[in-house]
This record gives sequence, C-alpha cells and structure tokens, in this order.
Amino acid sequence: MNIIFLGPPGSGKGTLADKVSKAVHIPAISTGALLREAVRSQSELGKQIQQYIDHGNLVPDTIMGNLIKDRLQLKDCQDGFILDGFPRTIEQAQMLDDLGICIDHVINLTISDEQIVARLTGRRVCPKCGATYHIENLPSADGKHCDVDGADLTQREDDHPETVRRRLVVYHELTEPLIAYYSDKQLLRSVDSSTDPANTMQGFLKAIDGKLDLE
Ligand code: AMP
Repeated sequence: MNIIFLGPPGSGKGTLADKVSKAVHIPAISTGALLREAVRSQSELGKQIQQYIDHGNLVPDTIMGNLIKDRLQLKDCQDGFILDGFPRTIEQAQMLDDLGICIDHVINLTISDEQIVARLTGRRVCPKCGATYHIENLPSADGKHCDVDGADLTQREDDHPETVRRRLVVYHELTEPLIAYYSDKQLLRSVDSSTDPANTMQGFLKAIDGKLDLE
C-alpha cells in the first residue's frame, strides 16, 4: 500500500502520516525531516539545503530525486510507504512515475491559509527530541520547556511569519497543480484537516473506504 499525503505546509500531513504508519506498520517518510537531518550533518549539501528551507523555498528537484530514490530503496519500504511532503512539484510526481512506483491513494488535506499561518507561527519544537507543541492549542506544561526532556523549546526558522507566507506562495504555485495531476489519474481524495487530528483521521478512513487494515 503506497500512499501520498498532499496538502499545504501545516495541514497536518505529518501527524496523520505518523498515526497511519503506526497502525499499518509501513514507514512514514517525511522529506522535510530527511532534509533537516542533512542540514544537521553540516555537510556542504546540508548547508545548501538549509538556505532553501530557511527562505521558504523548495529544494531543487534534482536533489530531491536522489534523496527519495535512495530512501524508497530501503528494505522497510518493501510492503509499502506513506509519503509526507513528496511530491511537491509535477516534476517530482513524474519521478515517481519514472521509477515505476504505483500509488494506491493520494490524500489531499484541506485547510485555509489563515489557519495555516496561525498553526505554523504558533508551533514550537523541542530541539532535542523533536516533540511539537503549539503556544495556544497544545502548550507544554510551563509553555517554555519540553515536557519530555526539559529542553528549551524553539521556533523553526521557517515558521517565522514572513517565511510561512513565502511557503504558502510556493505551495499554491508549485504544489497545488498536483491536485489536478492526481485527480486526472483518479487517485485523489480530499479530507478536511481544519479541525483536530482525530477528525482528520476519520475523514481519511472514510476517504479510503476503510480499506486499511487498522489495529
Ligand atoms: P516540511 O517539514 O514538509 O514542511 O518541509 C520543510 C521544508 O523542506 C520545505 O519548506 C522545503 O523547503 C523542504 N522540502 C520538503 N520536502 C520537499 C520536497 N518534496 N521538495 C522540495 N523541498 C522540500
């Protein structure tokens, strides 16, 4: 079972992908997380990648093509995978087609731009364990430190308001055309993700006619 989660930044792709991954035991692959890992390595490529991310731009398709090809070749993908944040351009979708990868479902998460700005600019993350909080909807116990390990919470560089707005422009221009691309292939279902994760999960199950073998 190969699934793609489409949707603007902050639409909840990662949260849903993790839930589904745990339920059906196939990996959730976040290209954003893979790229941030490359940035942390401080390699030359990592430094280049950081410039794109910090400015709210997409990392070039050539880099993404190699990254996704290597990741999908790993053994844990043999029974299927969930893609969170890939493809983000028509060219990237064509790369999957060229690799002969068959996609079973494309789930498009929908939410307004205003809600995205509120979600992302209020997001705080733990630099140590990666736990995610929100200053209003999901604050940590004291609002400043991680509940898991006590580290100081930080804001992702690309969650600052100007960068979030840039990411939205990029989404509408380069990623939104994928909705038509996958609609034409009759693979796309849209799910409202403007409320909470439990509702989004329900919408997802409905969209795939409950065909996942969920525990
Ligand atoms: P995310 O964590 O999915 O919001 O991704 C964070 C950032 O990583 C994005 O704003 C892009 O700069 C970059 N990125 C993630 N996935 C891709 C992709 N498929 N193509 C190009 N850039 C990406």
